[in-house]
Amino acid sequence: MNTAASTHAAPTGPVRTRIAPSPTGFLHLGTARTALYSWAYARHFGGEFVLRIEDTDVARSSEESVQQILDSMAWLGLHYDEGPVYQMQRLERYHAVAEQMIAAGTAYRCYATPEELDAMREAQRARGEKTRYDGRWRPAPGKVLPPVPEGVKPVVRFANPLHGQVQWDDLVKGSISISNEEIDDLIILRPAPEGAPDGTLGVPTYNFAVVVDDLDMRISHVFRGDEHINNTPWQINIWRAIAGGAPLPRYGHCPIILGDDGLKLSKRRGAVSVTAYEEAGYLPEAMLNYLARLGWSHGDDELFTREQMVQWFDGSHLAKSPAQWDPAKLAWVNAHYMKAAADERLAALLQGQLAHRGISTDDLPLLARASALFKDRCHTVVELADWAAMLFVPVQPSAEDLALHVTDAVKPALVTLAEKLQAAPWDKAGISAAMKETLAQHQLKMPQLAPALRVLVCGRAQTPSVDAVLALFPRALVQQRLQNP
Ligand code: GLU
Repeated sequence: MNTAASTHAAPTGPVRTRIAPSPTGFLHLGTARTALYSWAYARHFGGEFVLRIEDTDVARSSEESVQQILDSMAWLGLHYDEGPVYQMQRLERYHAVAEQMIAAGTAYRCYATPEELDAMREAQRARGEKTRYDGRWRPAPGKVLPPVPEGVKPVVRFANPLHGQVQWDDLVKGSISISNEEIDDLIILRPAPEGAPDGTLGVPTYNFAVVVDDLDMRISHVFRGDEHINNTPWQINIWRAIAGGAPLPRYGHCPIILGDDGLKLSKRRGAVSVTAYEEAGYLPEAMLNYLARLGWSHGDDELFTREQMVQWFDGSHLAKSPAQWDPAKLAWVNAHYMKAAADERLAALLQGQLAHRGISTDDLPLLARASALFKDRCHTVVELADWAAMLFVPVQPSAEDLALHVTDAVKPALVTLAEKLQAAPWDKAGISAAMKETLAQHQLKMPQLAPALRVLVCGRAQTPSVDAVLALFPRALVQQRLQNP
């Protein structure tokens, strides 16, 4: 395959993009990224974005996975204008197209058995040749086909052009071309499985269903992972065979995402699903921002809104080489959006994270106040929950912190403060005043009292402004924690 520099041109007709996940698992981060590019491209050019569920791998597809994909798309806010369209609901259409192709001579039935094909490949290997279908059932002028064997259900194969080049101008990779002589006749339709009730339709293969769908859905631009580059020549040839001259979609093949170890991002090497990041306390706008930058750039901009992305994303500046997943950068981006997030919104997310830990609370105003106080120190909502948990469950100061901060010099002051807090107005100012009186009475300084308070009440020596933090707690709980120095 040859490649050359990419060219970018504004679309000439209506823009329709799609994302076509297979529901054989969760929504992978790589798919989420191409969904984002497809969505942003459609929005940028005032076009439409379609969701198609490629569920033809019946054995591995599941309802649960469809639901996860829909949930992840909703969570990311990637709203589609059409769909979800399910391929398994379109079997009749694929059959009709296959029949038309057979009639037109661009597809044919192949009765070769799996054993025969194994023997064919074995012989090719023995001769040192590349294994490929040898066209034994492909009709040709003057060619006599073998007699149709009894009891063999045929597959349908695409009659790939025998000569010439397939060429396309990839939005990401530039011009790609491959000789048709390197491509064999692909199976486009498999028969219904053995034992299926009469009338059951067979299932199309990926490369065929994709083309029929992209054509029927009038898809103008396809962004997808570059693992599909090798499929594209077949898809282009099939398109040309069935599209009646309709313009080919423009393809953009995005490089894979590498893990932080430089190997392909995979489940074994950490979280790869959108859902996992939701559970880990990331915000959707941060995920979108981070995913967008993994393979696309707008100058040096690292932080941008969805609206900016839509404004900027015109299909140019897509990276040709693989990007590396960087958890630290994602955490940094998320921290930015945590700071910017409304406290009420964080409160609801925090409530969910606390519930995962068995902490149930309906006090959303309290959680909003806690969010306001702690969010600047948090990368994720999980970290926010690490802070807020102190309001609900006993804290366990370390022996080291106790020894360092809750010294004999400060202990009498803690008793005094506990007494003063009995009557103090229960807010930041009231608590602050009680602390100042205590300091004066015991001739201590704030850096002696505040860490001791933090360690006993919050279980850690560093917190935001201690009077504000204490005001989050019920008065009785603070007093109780102060009584156990
Ligand atoms: N179902 C394919 C996948 O998930 C879709 C590829 C495409 O966009 O054509 O990889």
